[in-house]
Amino acid sequence: MKRNFHTHTTFCDGKNTPEEMAAAAFEKGFEVLGFSGHSYTFFDDTWCMSRKGTQEYQSRVLELKDKYADKMKIHLGVEQDLYSAEGTYGYDFVIGSVHYVLKDGKYWPVDESAEQLRHAIDTGWEGDPYAFAEDYFAAVSQWAPRDDAAIVGHFDLLCKFNEDGEFFDENHPRYVAAAQTAMDALLAAGKIFEINTGAMARGYLKRPYPSYDFIEYIAKRGGRLILSSDCHDAEFLDYGFQDENVKRFAK
Ligand SMILES: [Zn+2]
Ligand SMILES: [Zn+2]
Repeated sequence: MKRNFHTHTTFCDGKNTPEEMAAAAFEKGFEVLGFSGHSYTFFDDTWCMSRKGTQEYQSRVLELKDKYADKMKIHLGVEQDLYSAEGTYGYDFVIGSVHYVLKDGKYWPVDESAEQLRHAIDTGWEGDPYAFAEDYFAAVSQWAPRDDAAIVGHFDLLCKFNEDGEFFDENHPRYVAAAQTAMDALLAAGKIFEINTGAMARGYLKRPYPSYDFIEYIAKRGGRLILSSDCHDAEFLDYGFQDENVKRFAK
C-alpha cells in the first residue's frame, strides 16, 4: 500500500499547500496520506506552524479529508516537538520528534545547520559529541512514556550532517549505548519507528533515519517500522521508497 504519514505544508516549513500535497499524492497513486505539520514551539517560531495557522491547517486538512473521502484516505496529524507546549488532542495521529536538546534552560537545535550543531557541541557540551548524543537520545526516549505519540520521528536526527562522520563515530561505544537505551525504552513502549527518507530527498544522507544498523536492531526485536518521506516538497512524496535497502525493511 502506498502511504505516507509524515507530510509538511506551507503552514510550517513545507513548499506546498495541503491541497497541492493531496493532489500530488493522489496522482502518485497513494492510498493514504497523513499530514503532520510541525507543532508550534514557543521558543522558536521560525519553522513551525503558528498558533493561528494551526487552526487553519486543521480545518483545511479536514476539508481535504471529505473531498478525497472516496479516493484516498487522509489523516490529520501533527509532528509534535518534545518541548512544544501545544496540546495533541483532536489529531488522528501524532509523530513524536526531538528537534532540540534542552540544557541549562537553552534549546539547542539539532538539525538546523551543521554550524549550529558544531556550536552546540562545542559550547553547550564542552566539545564532547558523545555527551551531546547521550542527551539527545535521552530526550528521544522521553517519548516512551507518553501515550499521545504512536510514532517516533527520525530516531537519529542528530546525524543529519554526519554523512562523512564529521560529528560522530556512529560505532563509538558511548554513541551506540545511548541509542540502544533509547531504542529499548521505545520498543518496550510499543512505539512505531519511522524509516524516514527525508534527509535522502534533501541530499544530506545516503541512508534513511535511523541508520541500517539501528533499523536492524529494531526489526530483530519485533519493533514496528513505518516508511515515511518526511515530505517538504510534493515532488519527493515517495522519495527513496524504491531504494533496495529501504525496501528490505519497509512493510
Ligand atoms: Zn522533524
Ligand atoms: Zn518532519
